Amino acid sequence: MPKLERSAYYDLTRDMNWRFKYVRAEEVFPQEMVHNPEVPYEEWWKWDEPYKVTYREYVYNQSEKDHGVYSVKAAIARSKLFDALDNGWKAALTAHYGAIALPEYLASIGESRMARFGLGASWRNMATYGCLDETRHGQIQVYFPYGLLDKHPQFDWAHKAFHTNEWGAIAARSMFDRMFTANDALSTAIQLTFTFETGFTNLQFLGMAADAMDVGDVEFGALISSIQTDESRHAQIGEPTLRILLKNGKKKEAQRLVETMWWRAWHIFALLTGLSMDYYTPLEHRSMSFKEFMEEWVLRQFLDMFRDLGMDPPWYWDIMRDEMNWYQHGLHLGVWFWRPTVWWNPDGGVSEAEREWLEEKYPGWNDTFGRYWDVITENIRNGQTEKTLPQTLPLVCNMCHIPIVTLSDPKQKHNAPYVSEYNGRRYLFCSEPCKWIFDVEPEKYAGYLSIVDRFLAGHIQPPTLENVLAYMGLTPDIWGRDADNYAWAFQKKVDQAAVGN
Ligand code: MN
Ligand code: MN
Repeated sequence: MPKLERSAYYDLTRDMNWRFKYVRAEEVFPQEMVHNPEVPYEEWWKWDEPYKVTYREYVYNQSEKDHGVYSVKAAIARSKLFDALDNGWKAALTAHYGAIALPEYLASIGESRMARFGLGASWRNMATYGCLDETRHGQIQVYFPYGLLDKHPQFDWAHKAFHTNEWGAIAARSMFDRMFTANDALSTAIQLTFTFETGFTNLQFLGMAADAMDVGDVEFGALISSIQTDESRHAQIGEPTLRILLKNGKKKEAQRLVETMWWRAWHIFALLTGLSMDYYTPLEHRSMSFKEFMEEWVLRQFLDMFRDLGMDPPWYWDIMRDEMNWYQHGLHLGVWFWRPTVWWNPDGGVSEAEREWLEEKYPGWNDTFGRYWDVITENIRNGQTEKTLPQTLPLVCNMCHIPIVTLSDPKQKHNAPYVSEYNGRRYLFCSEPCKWIFDVEPEKYAGYLSIVDRFLAGHIQPPTLENVLAYMGLTPDIWGRDADNYAWAFQKKVDQAAVGN
């Protein structure tokens, strides 16, 4: 076994670029797979990752990580830990597994594409580790919920969700296909690793890990912390790629790649992490509101990074900051109302104490959202739960594929739906940035049917709500019910007037 210092062989092993003699570089790296915006081939040889690791170190670290997490799982397998968890937390858990487990596995396709078509050898080397990482994340996040199948059949959706036409799965699939399953190597580096991983995975993986430890879900906390250590390593593929683009005068292209993906990632995380942090996590264990976490872990960090790189924040930065006050609340109301259309049991999360917290974190919440919950609470107290269930489908955005949420307050600038015409068809969008992303490259999105498009095109026959649920793969043992069987609607704080008076 050679005992060389790492520095003595590292560059030699990870940076094997060479000039081709028998073919042209463009034949080895076809544009369809690479999308190199005319940066000279050898410029990419300067690609340099901030985090160095050798294969030997990688294998050792990963095996230690797996050993740690699987030991935690084994140690608590026979305990009553899961049964003691709060029902709202279980909703966050079930939503997470369905939305994340398979996309992790699919991300290994994007990493493999970079491992073959990345333009510098050191980039391809890092992406090889990334591919192994994502394979591990896919496997471990299917295996852990498998252990919970005897607790609830919804955990089967860790494996199943992505194979269905459930609306959230359609939304996630549409974004992830664009981001990595069907993306070229350069765009994957910017859109998956820089935009999505550096920008947003901290939210779900660090934020939720902190909350998990706090609620006592040691297994989930250990699992996602272990994943995040890999993410923060392979996410570093983005920055050196961006630096080379910027150095070669391709700032406009770099901005376009970031901006067309940042917004979609924001919407998906508002749906997944927004609901978990602001409604599902038990009140006494919430470390921060979703908005606070966004400010602290996403926006501030990213503004610094944009500035450092010489890039500009996306043009819609102010629109996003405005949405952070209300978007996730609108989604929560919608998801709870349409609860039979999701694979988890949404927690209303609006007991009196929780409403106080919401009003404190989001001043004006009571006037804007509380009044809808007043009506819902009243109906539940009167035993009329059928009035709190849907009869029809909501409008869905043709970009993010999330139901269109709008505020009824006329003082708001927000004015959905936004409309585009393309090839004789109308497309509806929830927001100005979603419309803009479509308008930049309509040919990439025009053929993707939303759940409502499918309904109108006759894919769901006869067009009843029952058949919509069947089309989504949802059966009565799976579809969402209120997490606490409406207990929150009856929880009153002493000394306080009843809700809705
Ligand atoms: Mn991953
Ligand atoms: Mn990743």
